[in-house]
Amino acid sequence: MTRIGVLALQGDFREHITVLRELGAGAFPVRLPSDLDGVDGLIIPGGESTVMGKLMVAYGLDQPLRDLIAGGLPVWGTCAGLILLSRETDNALAGQPLLAAMNIRTCRNAFGPQRASFETLLKVPALGETPYHAVFIRGPVVEQAGEGVEVLARLNDDETAGETLNSSGPIVAVRQGPLLGTAFHPEVTGDTRFHDYFLGIVREQARSQ
Ligand code: GLN
Repeated sequence: MTRIGVLALQGDFREHITVLRELGAGAFPVRLPSDLDGVDGLIIPGGESTVMGKLMVAYGLDQPLRDLIAGGLPVWGTCAGLILLSRETDNALAGQPLLAAMNIRTCRNAFGPQRASFETLLKVPALGETPYHAVFIRGPVVEQAGEGVEVLARLNDDETAGETLNSSGPIVAVRQGPLLGTAFHPEVTGDTRFHDYFLGIVREQARSQ
């Protein structure tokens, strides 16, 4: 059985664990470095990236995570998790720890305060034709996606735009090899396509190693 760890220091890790189990994957919380033994993939949930980053350092998880990522571990960061995966973030608090795994610059709280949270339909060609219902909760955007980064979705205010992604909207979902990042919260909508997509990446990576 595929074993997915979900970083459980803070944020909405329970919702991810529930979805993964519904999909038949093994899912368990990761709080200590020893919890990472034997994981096939890891999800870093939404929450507060400053708090999560500090707790990651306090629990001695930051270096083991960097080492596993360097070794090819598939990791999916949602919202705060996406911020933690980025190489650089605007609006960072001084000394905010980042895993710096993805070649992206994010902007924290890009849409303003909590009350500016919103829901929208996204085109995500990697998931098929049906638009994806995305929930943004004080989310970031990807301001810059560098070499090796595939853009999976952009915020698109023109629902009638063609099959391809509108090149002008802010980037909200990215992939870099086995690393996946979404600025929104796929664990709260009941649409499991992003979790399925990540499990596909995990299986693909397991086969290639
Ligand atoms: N605003 C949060 C941060 O900067 C992210 C919000 C979320 O994960 N829903 O970490």
